[in-house]
Amino acid sequence: MIIENARCESMDLTGYGIIKHNGKDFHIANLLPGELAKVDVFDHGYGKVIKILESSKDRVKAPCPIYSECGGCHLQHLEYSSQISLKTNYVKSSFESQGLSTSTLLPCIGMKDPYHYRNKVQMVFSEKGKRILSGFYEENTHRVINVDNCHIQDEVANKIISTCKELFLKHKIKPYMEDRGTGLVRHVLVKRSKATEEVLVVIVTIEEMFPGRNNFVTDLRKLHPEITTIVQNINGRKTSVVLGDFERIIFGKGVITDVLMNKKFVISSKSFYQVNARQTEILYKKAIELAKPTETDVVLDAYSGIGTIGILMSEYVKKVISVEINPISVKNAIQNARINNIKNVRFYHEDAAQFIKNLVSDNIAIDIVLVDPPRAGLEPSFIDAMLELRPKKMVYISCDPTTLARDIKLLTAVQYEIKRIQPVDMFAQTFHVESITLLSLR
Ligand code: SAH
Repeated sequence: MIIENARCESMDLTGYGIIKHNGKDFHIANLLPGELAKVDVFDHGYGKVIKILESSKDRVKAPCPIYSECGGCHLQHLEYSSQISLKTNYVKSSFESQGLSTSTLLPCIGMKDPYHYRNKVQMVFSEKGKRILSGFYEENTHRVINVDNCHIQDEVANKIISTCKELFLKHKIKPYMEDRGTGLVRHVLVKRSKATEEVLVVIVTIEEMFPGRNNFVTDLRKLHPEITTIVQNINGRKTSVVLGDFERIIFGKGVITDVLMNKKFVISSKSFYQVNARQTEILYKKAIELAKPTETDVVLDAYSGIGTIGILMSEYVKKVISVEINPISVKNAIQNARINNIKNVRFYHEDAAQFIKNLVSDNIAIDIVLVDPPRAGLEPSFIDAMLELRPKKMVYISCDPTTLARDIKLLTAVQYEIKRIQPVDMFAQTFHVESITLLSLR
């Protein structure tokens, strides 16, 4: 249904503009509070802009030419300092909706340069007539939108993907077409460290046979001498998961190294690593500063991934115990401790909730608990065990304000109080926001 003159009243927490029509709210992408627009709205409560009639002073021209088509970013049309306010407000509203105090909430820490920050770039390939496309799937479809220069991805990685496209054409290497079941290359994944400038390229193919591989790799290395390692990953499954189980290293070591707060971290194709290294450093520094660790503290780092926070924390404390459920990450974490010559961190491969329960039954005292769970937040059983463990302080790093506030409500019901809430922008141009919450035992 077309609405000719819709006035945007406010913004929802994910950056959509809200308009009211016949008593109903509609959420419109790419529309800012105060703006007047002609819009097309749908029954499910969402809609799109057809034409902006009066624009807001906070509107900026999105640098990406396919911004509204792609859907990967949500806020390029909003001036960056307003993006930051939106994110602070996202955290504030989530806490308030649980009846929690936000008197200790600080403004979100923004980026110096909010573009080209993603150190991990992953693009799908497809064929259109004689052209090869590389980009992302359009939201909720399997149609590939061609993206030549993604504005939030690492610029070197963008160029490598473009070169791959040209070389696939030159060497007659066909993209895999899901609907027809033809072709070879599914994805190209690039990871790059700004600190060491090392580059990992992963070519994901449907099967192991890769005709033209040697010529392709020779050309790719000639055109991009900055590439330090190339891996072929084989994923023959019908799945939206990018990487398959089997890999072979074609060139180099198969891994790259990044540096955070003067410590080295080895990154492989599959290991979880924060996508915005510069802001990660700020996030971890803040988390450590808030925890105020001392030499006698024993720290539990739960959901530890490849061991980053625990390893960075280790030099300030007596001992760190890290627990993580993914065995590959635990292996990477052990390797990371070794290359940094760190001796006071122990890594355990276990479910975090079960692990805490065991600490309680074994009467092991913990001074500080650091958690950094996935979007779903903490399991109720983890929270119950935490309340029995009773550490002096807890630092909760979260990438989802909604599940964070839900968990903080349970943790602060009796024993803990909120000492600080600090959002950090790790995902500029999108509505996502990371935050650190410090709790202390009452
Ligand atoms: N702290 C790390 C990783 C955070 S991502 C960093 O900043 O890099 C969240 C991690 O939680 C992932 O590594 C995931 O494998 C792990 N995880 C998920 N469920 C878990 C569980 N039940 N127990 C322990 N770890 C879990």
